[in-house]
Amino acid sequence: MKHRIVVLGAGYAGAYVAGNLARRLSPQDTEITVVNAEPDFVQRMRLHQLAAGREIEAPKLVDVFAGTGIRLRLARVTAVDPERQVVAVADGDGGGEFGYDTLLYALGSQGDDHGVPGVAEHAFDVAARPSARRLRERLDQLGGRGESANVVIVGDGLTGIETATEIAEARPGLSVALIARGELGTRLSAGARDHLRRACDRLGITVLENTEVEAVEAARVLCADGTALAADATVWTAGFMVSPLAAAGGLEVTENGRIIVDRTMRSVSHPNVYAVGDSVYAIGDNGRPLPMSCGSAGYTGRQAVEAIVGHLTGREIANTKLVYEGNHISLGQRDGILQMVDHEGRAKPKYMGGRKALRIKAVVLRGSLWATSHPTFGLPKRKRRLAAAPSDAATPSNASAEKRVAA
Ligand SMILES: Cc1cc2nc3c(=O)[nH]c(=O)nc-3n(C[C@H](O)[C@H](O)[C@H](O)COP(=O)(O)OP(=O)(O)OC[C@H]3O[C@@H](n4cnc5c(N)ncnc54)[C@H](O)[C@@H]3O)c2cc1C
Repeated sequence: MKHRIVVLGAGYAGAYVAGNLARRLSPQDTEITVVNAEPDFVQRMRLHQLAAGREIEAPKLVDVFAGTGIRLRLARVTAVDPERQVVAVADGDGGGEFGYDTLLYALGSQGDDHGVPGVAEHAFDVAARPSARRLRERLDQLGGRGESANVVIVGDGLTGIETATEIAEARPGLSVALIARGELGTRLSAGARDHLRRACDRLGITVLENTEVEAVEAARVLCADGTALAADATVWTAGFMVSPLAAAGGLEVTENGRIIVDRTMRSVSHPNVYAVGDSVYAIGDNGRPLPMSCGSAGYTGRQAVEAIVGHLTGREIANTKLVYEGNHISLGQRDGILQMVDHEGRAKPKYMGGRKALRIKAVVLRGSLWATSHPTFGLPKRKRRLAAAPSDAATPSNASAEKRVAA
């Protein structure tokens, strides 16, 4: 019987890992299945552009995985049971359960309303493609009203900044406000903050700093200082959370649901489960948690591939880099900021701003899309066979899985 590897989520992290495993493990011994809710690869890093009215490329996952030997299951994961080693899914046919021997959990993240009243009912977000599309439809309606409508973006993290600048540039007829809890762009260097301020001025964005939002209503945003801002569309970008599935299944997770792993991305509670991308709580080489980002998806993914291949083939597991180097931020289609960080994750004093920074970001976006949509590029002719007695049979579940492979 083949060793069943199941990959949950085909975003930046999951698609990369699935492709790399298919590239390195022999199909004679392993069977790789990817489960994803959407039929396309969604470029999440461009969803604010989609919302503002631009088209974004979305390769079909059947094409992405064509010829790789990977099985694709388009379904929503509804539960994970790491004791029984099964995953439950829902799809058009009603769904069901299926088993795994090794699980790679890469379900990403979603918007977090932090319990602020009215956000779930009234606010838009850009955390997923359906919600970004809903925002776009709303902006289309507002643009056609013939009078200036108000769009309020709550949160001045990187997603809030990119969303506000993209919408203000693409839809100059709308009045755009950006609400920051503290000073605008606190994670940036002083120079980059000034650059950001100038960009907001140029694009006509009203910035409200030191402002805490207490509630969102259908047509207003209520702030702690008593201000009520008129809002024809409120866009909530103030935080991301992970799906509750890992915690519900009994995997050891942090307070906010991210899966706790060792240096190799292996769950500390269930050794035949690995986690990568936004879903994982991984400590970087600087001793600090890696942020949710595309870069972290790549670094954690690479480490997980090494670990899974190593455990299954009995080879030594290399420690790959786990670093946070900085942020590429677009400010619409003509401006950007490249802010590198130091070993502690603090902004370095120097930054790059303007078109050059935007061009670098464009290369990053294109590179991420290319890497994930060509997951087995450079496929080697010889692939690793599984070891008859893999190096770590620490758990009963691993041991039984490995017996099946050897049989
Ligand atoms: C608007 C926006 C802009 C961003 N810009 C940047 C940026 O410039 N730089 C940067 O580093 N990061 C950026 N990020 C963050 C970055 O997109 C994430 O860190 C990255 O996508 C994480 O990769 P992932 O593979 O963990 O998750 P994702 O890419 O979100 O992939 C998760 C996959 O799992 C699927 N899925 C989720 N739940 C289920 C389920 N229950 N069943 C089946 N499938 C499911 C999803 O459909 C998706 O395909 C941005 C995020 C947003 C929203």
